[in-house]
Amino acid sequence: MVSLSDLPLRDDLRGMTPYGAPQDAVRYALNVNENTHPIPEDVARDIVESLARAVLGANRYPDREFSELRTAFAGYLGHGLDADQIWAANGSNEIIQHVLQAFGGPGRRVLGFPPTYSMHPIIAAGTGTEWVTAERDAGYRISPETAVAAVERTDPDLVFLCAPNNPTGTPLPIETIEAVYAASRGMVFVDEAYAEFMPDEVPSALTLLPGRERLIVSRTMSKAFAFAGVRVGYLAADAAVTDALRLVRLPYHLSALTQAAALAALRHAPEMLAMVDDIRGQRDRLLAELPALGYRAHESQANFVLFDGVADPHATFRALRERDILIRDVGLPGALRVTAGTEEETSYFLAALAELGAGGAH
Ligand SMILES: *Cc1c(COP(=O)(O)O)cnc(C)c1O
Repeated sequence: MVSLSDLPLRDDLRGMTPYGAPQDAVRYALNVNENTHPIPEDVARDIVESLARAVLGANRYPDREFSELRTAFAGYLGHGLDADQIWAANGSNEIIQHVLQAFGGPGRRVLGFPPTYSMHPIIAAGTGTEWVTAERDAGYRISPETAVAAVERTDPDLVFLCAPNNPTGTPLPIETIEAVYAASRGMVFVDEAYAEFMPDEVPSALTLLPGRERLIVSRTMSKAFAFAGVRVGYLAADAAVTDALRLVRLPYHLSALTQAAALAALRHAPEMLAMVDDIRGQRDRLLAELPALGYRAHESQANFVLFDGVADPHATFRALRERDILIRDVGLPGALRVTAGTEEETSYFLAALAELGAGGAH
């Protein structure tokens, strides 16, 4: 085998690092914000029966328009959305890729506010879109004024917002989204991967869609729905946006099996989402108990908590790894991120961290 540098790779990809969250087999995998609760058995059985029926028709290409699934997502989201305002793909990562292929690309730029979802700049690079950044306010917040100043300074073709933000958990005020939209000429993409974990009274960016044809709100079944392994993400936007995405998607990008599995899971939405309240409870427990161990926990509206005050994040990461726990070193100084799991997982993590002593110094 030759090395990468021996290949005629695109110049703009040279020196890049691929996405690489560790995938070790550990008992306590709390590093990629999955829903750690298993799929309920009766739901699993219904999904399998749907898959069995879909397999019998797998000699034919799947419904290219995934019409039934789009209707189901429109029903799940509510807010008066129609099926033609919905798009779906193999995870919201592919949603992001479709959006950048249609509205970004060479000669265009997307504005982001780091620290934010690590895949945003990676998919920007993959599509040849320039990634430009602006700073957040204190506590990782983004006020309308800060956001508008960044839009005016960079004049982006797209703005990526993450509400609540990964890896910090920070809420994003709806006023910031409105202000960004009003100040920009380009597409405004709101990544709501963790929307179901937000407090009930916090409005989704979906409420802003009417009359805003450049606004896109993206969701995923990977987190709240406990469906990360199936790869289903979706978005809501003006129907013209979905017309634009048809230009860049590969035909039949959503397999018949994916469509069948997602439809079956959506039929059981209340049961699939029953664990969300549990998880919110464990998140709130992390927010309460991490300070008692001497760490600063950042406000979170997602299913994870970023905490700092860690003397040596690499050492603490390794010490937890030795105790069969995987959390995330997101590269922020003195900080680590942990996913809220089941009560048992959260207890085990907190006990292990307590054992390491103040600052995780052990
Ligand atoms: C986990 C996550 C996603 C999910 O990606 P999928 O491809 O749907 O699994 C999207 N956006 C953010 C901010 C995330 O944290």
